[in-house]
Amino acid sequence: MRYTKITENTTVFPNIGEISEQPLQQTNQMFPEIKYELPQIKLLREAFEQRWRNLLTRSLRVGLSLPDKEALWKKVMDCWNGGFKCDYCGNKMKIHESTPSSKTFTIEHELSIHNGGDNSLQNVFIICKDCNTKKNTLCASTFHDVLNGKKYVIPGLSVRLSDFFKINRDGWTSEYLCITMLLRHLGRRSRSTSTRKNYLHHLRSFCLWSTMKPDQLAQLPKEKIEELVQQFADTYNTPQYSRRTANNVITILRSYFESNGYRGANALNVEGYYTPKRYRKTNDFIPQKHEIYYMADNAGSLRDRAIILTIYQSGVRNSTLRALRYKDIKNELLEGLSVIKIPVYPEMKKIDPDACKNNLPYYTFIGEEASDAIRLYLQERTEKYGPIDDNDPLFASECRQIERELRSSKILTSRQIQLIVKSTAKACGIERWKDVKPHCLRKANESVLHGETVDGNHISIKTQEFFIGHVLEACMDNYFDATWPETLRMEYSKLKFERVVIENKFKRMQRAVAEAFDGTGINVEDLINDYVKRKDRIKTSLNPVS
Ligand SMILES: [Zn+2]
Repeated sequence: MRYTKITENTTVFPNIGEISEQPLQQTNQMFPEIKYELPQIKLLREAFEQRWRNLLTRSLRVGLSLPDKEALWKKVMDCWNGGFKCDYCGNKMKIHESTPSSKTFTIEHELSIHNGGDNSLQNVFIICKDCNTKKNTLCASTFHDVLNGKKYVIPGLSVRLSDFFKINRDGWTSEYLCITMLLRHLGRRSRSTSTRKNYLHHLRSFCLWSTMKPDQLAQLPKEKIEELVQQFADTYNTPQYSRRTANNVITILRSYFESNGYRGANALNVEGYYTPKRYRKTNDFIPQKHEIYYMADNAGSLRDRAIILTIYQSGVRNSTLRALRYKDIKNELLEGLSVIKIPVYPEMKKIDPDACKNNLPYYTFIGEEASDAIRLYLQERTEKYGPIDDNDPLFASECRQIERELRSSKILTSRQIQLIVKSTAKACGIERWKDVKPHCLRKANESVLHGETVDGNHISIKTQEFFIGHVLEACMDNYFDATWPETLRMEYSKLKFERVVIENKFKRMQRAVAEAFDGTGINVEDLINDYVKRKDRIKTSLNPVS
C-alpha cells in the first residue's frame, strides 16, 4: 500500500467547492502538478462519506441537528493539509487504499453527545481511531491529562461497563441497583450460573450497542426503550443468527426492564419474530457401546482412554469430570473395588460453576473397565511425575507448555476434554466424529441406565435420574441418604456397561444356586449379592496404584 506523504509545505489544494462539485478527473487536469495526490484525496472523501453516514445515524437517533456537510469536509481537508495529524495525540493518521473507511480518522465531539455536546463545527475535531476509543465520553481536558500521563488511562466504555457486571460475593447481587434487581429476579426463578451469565452477556451487548450504561437505560421513557430493544433485536434477525436468538434477546431485555419497574401497564411492547415450529435438529452423534469401546482402545493415551470410559460409565458432565480430584475416589481405588463411587458435590463449583448443577450433591459409579483404566493411567502418571497429591485433579492436563512439576496438578480445560473425545472418535474412523462430544457419551450412559439389567430387570426410574444427576422431586430428597450407596452400587453393577455382557451366565448361575438352596428358605438374590460384595473386597491385594 502506497501512502503519499504530504509535508507541511505541500502546494495548495483546490478549494473545497471545486472538489466536491466537479468530478475529480477535471480537478486533476486543472492542477496537474499535484495529480499524484488526487487518488489519496478521493480515498479521503470516501472515508469522510462513511464517517458522515455514521454521524447522520447517530444524530438522528438522539435528535441532534447536523453541521454543514461541506464545512465539515473543509475541516477534514484542513487537517489533511496540516499533515493529517490527530488533534489529540499528534500521531499521523493513515489512509489505506483497500479499506479507506476503516482504520482512518474519526469525527470527534469535544463535549460528547452524551454529555450534551452538539454537532457545531467548534465542537467537532478530526482525531485518530485510537484516541476516539480511549477518550470515549471524557471531556477534552481530562483526556489531555490522560494522554500526558497525568491521569491513569481511562479504559474504554467496554471496560468501564464491566464494573456494572461485577457481581458481589454472594453471586446474586451487584453494587449497582439496576443489576441487582435483575439478579434478584433471576434468583427467584433459577439459581443457574449459566443463565445468569447469559443474561448479563446480552445486556452488556445491548449497552455497548446503545452506548448507554445499564442505569441510564433503566431511566429512559418506555417508548424509547421499546424502540431501542426492537432495533437491537432486529440486528439478530439476520441469516447469521436464528430467529430464536432474536426472540431470546427480547426475553432477556424484557426481564431486565421488568425487574426495573417496567411491568404491568408499563410493560414493554416489543414485537417478537415468527419462528416456525421446528423439529429439534441436534448435531449430536451418540456412539454405540461397541464404538465407545473401540474409541477407548484407540485412545491416544492411557489418560484419554480412562477419560472416555469414565464419562461413559459414570455419565458425569464435562465440568464435573474436570472438577474430580484424586482424593474423591482414592480410597475405593486403593481398596481395589471394581465398582467405584464417583461423588459429585457443591464444592466442585469452585473449579467449574457447572460442575454441580443446582448445588445438588449426588453420586454415580464407574464399572470395572473404567476403574482399571484409571488405575493404569494413575500408575503411569506416578511414574512420570511422581506421587499424586490428594488434591490433584483425577485427570491432569499434562500440558507440555508448563513446567514438568506442575503438569500433574493442572486441571484440564473443558475444551481439552472435548478435543480428547472428538479426536479419538476421528481416529476410530467414526464418520461424524465432529458431532461426538463429551455429553454424547453421557447420553450413551443414560441409554444404558434405561436399558435392561443383566438379570433381565430395570433399575427404578428414580435411581436412573439420581445417577444422571437430574433434579429429583422434593419428596424424594430423603430417598437417597447416606445408607444407600451399597444398595445403589449393587444396582449399578447389574447395568450392562461392560464390554462383555455375562447375562446368560448370570441367569444360569442364578438358576443353579436357586436349585442348590431349594427348600432352605435362603434368599438366593441376597446370597449372590453378598458373594459379589465379598469378592470385591478380596481384590484389595491386587492394587497397582499404591
Ligand atoms: Zn490520536
